[in-house]
Amino acid sequence: MNILVTGAAGYIGSHTCVELLNNGYDVISLDNYSNSSPKSLERVEEITSKSIKKYECDLRDVEGIEKIFEENKIDAVIHFAGLKAVGESCKIPFTYYENNVSGTVNLCQVMAKMGCKKLVFSSSATVYGGNDIPYVETFKTGVEISSPYGRTKFMIEEILKDAAVSDNEWKISLLRYFNPIGAHPSGKIGEDPRGIPNNLMPYISQVAIGKLKELSVFGDDYETKDGTCVRDYIHVCDLARGHLLALERLQKDECEGVEMYNLGAGKGYSVLEVISAFEKASGKTVNRKFAPRREGDLPEFYADAKKAKEYLGFETELGIDKMCEDTWRWQQNNPKGYE
Ligand code: NAD
Ligand code: UDP
Repeated sequence: MNILVTGAAGYIGSHTCVELLNNGYDVISLDNYSNSSPKSLERVEEITSKSIKKYECDLRDVEGIEKIFEENKIDAVIHFAGLKAVGESCKIPFTYYENNVSGTVNLCQVMAKMGCKKLVFSSSATVYGGNDIPYVETFKTGVEISSPYGRTKFMIEEILKDAAVSDNEWKISLLRYFNPIGAHPSGKIGEDPRGIPNNLMPYISQVAIGKLKELSVFGDDYETKDGTCVRDYIHVCDLARGHLLALERLQKDECEGVEMYNLGAGKGYSVLEVISAFEKASGKTVNRKFAPRREGDLPEFYADAKKAKEYLGFETELGIDKMCEDTWRWQQNNPKGYE
């Protein structure tokens, strides 16, 4: 079975390719490498001893997408490609709407034209916006989303719902990720942020290896267990497995139009808890200081993970210690990322 993976060279895409190849799927990758390196796909091939058919293509290039569908019989698409930096999206919103929203519309138009209407989409817990925890899939979305990035995810979800209303052949799984961290246990693929990381885990690991001086812990006066923000961290390999389960449901024709699932552990860890788990896993001290709250941060959020368990059979298996251990192995083996 041929699966087109958009954004395959990226952090979550590459881990999902490993899972797909290890489970007998053939992978066709589409990526413009705007935030990744083709080396990640070579590493995926090393890990799995299988090959990927690779296309350097931008989702804003309709003819380029069509060519891929003309040259391959695609059975389903897992769509990761998109820009994802929250802060950057506030500065260049048009680029985000064009890349993420228009790119997705282009992809879906080509899919419809070619008769491929099975899609797994990378959404985000950010679509919930408000702070009523735990987040349940039935909550209203799009209410208080704090960034253009988050709004692209919300808009794409709405567009995909419209697609399914217009044509009941569409089978779409919207996967709302919580906080993916960790790396493949081989240490060969992992998260490779460009420049100074914005997210907690890559920042911590770069402090631990001495690339960055110290971590700023944003806020120590939240009403949480220790005053720092709480998030639902999910190992990227668990997350990748969630995509396979969603895909299997689409293939079995069990999915009714559009379905949405939280992919999270269903519990939260504070920033200080993550730091101490990382120190334990790495044997290093993570220099840190308390800093003012970061604008737009919610004190605490985590998933209600029941729906994914009931319909996809998905449950996380890898805990915070393993997430830190695997991140550290990736960081040590690749101090400069894929460079
Ligand atoms: P990533 O940046 O590592 O991967 C995205 C990939 O898409 C990159 O390889 C990039 O080069 C490619 N890409 C971007 N725009 C493209 C375009 N127009 N055409 C072709 N390729 C393009 O990001 P990731 O962390 O792997 O995230 C994957 C998806 O999951 C994204 O859609 C992201 O918004 C979503 N998501 C990520 C997180 C997270 O914390 N990492 C959380 C929630 C949702
Ligand atoms: N965080 C922090 N220092 C950093 C980066 C993040 O204290 O340098 C905190 C942030 O305030 C949030 C948590 O770590 O509470 C996770 O942040 P991240 O950006 O990784 O994910 P988010 O939940 O914001 O999508």
